[in-house]
Amino acid sequence: MPTDHPPYVIDQMISAKSIAARIESLAREIATEFAGTDKLVVVGLLRGSFVFIADLVRELDLPVEVDFLEASSYGDGMTSSREVRILKDLRGQIEGRDVLVVEDIVDTGHTLAHVTKFLLSRNPARLRSIALLDKPARREVDFKADWIGFEIPDEFVVGYGIDYGQRNRNLPYIGKVRFTQ
Ligand code: 5GP
Ligand code: MG
Ligand code: MG
Repeated sequence: MPTDHPPYVIDQMISAKSIAARIESLAREIATEFAGTDKLVVVGLLRGSFVFIADLVRELDLPVEVDFLEASSYGDGMTSSREVRILKDLRGQIEGRDVLVVEDIVDTGHTLAHVTKFLLSRNPARLRSIALLDKPARREVDFKADWIGFEIPDEFVVGYGIDYGQRNRNLPYIGKVRFTQ
């Protein structure tokens, strides 16, 4: 695969251990919030949330169904497109159901704001959202996820499902990209 980016290294920002510990505590809060639900639909936003959702649902002591939605935002670059489109819809119905949307990062906020509006139009009983990472400094629309794993500064990060040019999703930790030239 050709590389169209300058050389870079990845500096670890959040260890795999810290992520695991945070997910355990988030899962307890979520299980409390949705206690008694007959089936929670956990919706992962492709592709960045695939590792997070896999770890999160395994810590959730609730009956869950897993579904996926793909929304376009960043493409392969480092700048947000702002215009959000739904590229892949859910497979299942969410009307009258409890839904938890799982996202990797809230950055400008456009993606989750749009996805939330899109899903609310289907009249779920309850809709909540969780993002592993939040960059509040970059917010352009007023959006707040119900749960956040970690607040981070305005740095471009990769790992734990999150890519740069489709690479580095398999790193077990979150790291920041540092260009060496
Ligand atoms: P938003 O619509 O909130 O600006 O963008 C959210 C999406 O932008 C995230 O789901 C993620 O795909 C992408 N994004 C935001 N910040 C970063 C980052 O630091 N690294 C990577 N790889 N993607 C990011
Ligand atoms: Mg994303
Ligand atoms: Mg991406």
